[in-house]
Amino acid sequence: MPDIPVTGDVVIIGAGLSGALVAHYLAEADLQVVVLEAKDIGGTTAGGPRVAFVGTPQPYTALQARFGAEQARQFWQATLDNLEEGRRLLEAVGLPYRRCGALRLAGNTEEAYALQRSAAALQEAGFEVELEDATALGFVAALRTEDDMAFDVAALVRRLLAHERITVQDRTEVESVEVREKDVLVWARGAYLRSPAAVIAAGAYAAHLHPYLARHLRVMPAQTVECRAEEALPEQALVWSEGRLSLQPPPGAGAHRLAAWVRGADDDLWPLLEGAAATFCPQTVLEALWVAWLAEGEDGLPLVGEIPQAAGLYTVGGLGGWGLSWAFVAARRLAALMLEDVAPGWMKAGRFAA
Ligand SMILES: Cc1cc2nc3c(=O)[nH]c(=O)nc-3n(C[C@H](O)[C@H](O)[C@H](O)COP(=O)(O)OP(=O)(O)OC[C@H]3O[C@@H](n4cnc5c(N)ncnc54)[C@H](O)[C@@H]3O)c2cc1C
Repeated sequence: MPDIPVTGDVVIIGAGLSGALVAHYLAEADLQVVVLEAKDIGGTTAGGPRVAFVGTPQPYTALQARFGAEQARQFWQATLDNLEEGRRLLEAVGLPYRRCGALRLAGNTEEAYALQRSAAALQEAGFEVELEDATALGFVAALRTEDDMAFDVAALVRRLLAHERITVQDRTEVESVEVREKDVLVWARGAYLRSPAAVIAAGAYAAHLHPYLARHLRVMPAQTVECRAEEALPEQALVWSEGRLSLQPPPGAGAHRLAAWVRGADDDLWPLLEGAAATFCPQTVLEALWVAWLAEGEDGLPLVGEIPQAAGLYTVGGLGGWGLSWAFVAARRLAALMLEDVAPGWMKAGRFAA
């Protein structure tokens, strides 16, 4: 087992998509980056997600009601910017992606009405969405978006971390992080690693690493199963139950996956997945493919930036059930803060009371 490297301009805790993206942006700006990963490179990112969706899981009208029209527009736009950045990066590192698009499905007339209102509000805000009939899929209506993209997240993480200025130490669990004078001390494998800056990019486990994150991150379970069905399944990603259930096409050839996540820590995901499988791939014998924990900010939005009263200690996370919809933009904003002192705006980690 190699020793923990003792030098680096920045230490990043977690080699999921968020940690890998921040490491990449900082390394591209000539910083020496050390990434510490408790398990294997890729973490949650490796087994779970594969579709970066346009927009947020909750209906656009719900966003408007909660945050106001202008904020809702900014959130939605950020997911489009995110996809553009994702495509740019995938092309830059030579990995394929597929613009699969997505259909948000309404299962009854009440949901169809809500979808109609969201479609009208989105069109009024200048976004391209279309309503269509979804009876062929066993649903009442669907809202179509075109830019949603399927890609191999684990391959991207590996590619990003294979950088001459990034040192990755896997199987290295960080037990604590502490700011002392002008340095951040990261404790792992019975030793301190001292660095001018550290980034907590540990997904749901971030809550264990700092009390501020424990207070303001909401942790939730998620699970996927593979649909090894003979039935022809749609090319687009399908989404329903306010984003908590999705049928995800593969980035290239291969099996579709069903994914589910919920907001209550004790909820059982299995009945949701069984119900979805009965609709789309009844031939499939379900096997749990990946069970993991996710986290989102207490207001349902990401947390990006410096942790209050902890100079030099940053975080990127709280990306939630649709983490790929924010990950590229979130990591870019954190890098812009660390490199150029550009504030992360509405994603700002310190927006809650310390
Ligand atoms: C089953 C499932 C399906 C999903 N499907 C989708 C989808 O289709 N689209 C979508 O947008 N999102 C999806 N998501 C959500 C998405 O996976 C997450 O939002 C995203 O992975 C978060 O990335 P992250 O890098 O912030 O965290 P993670 O991927 O959780 O990475 C955190 C990393 O930190 C490591 N770590 C934790 N604690 C420590 C420690 N103490 N020391 C060192 N390392 C540590 C972990 O091992 C892990 O590798 C899905 C999630 C799951 C579980």
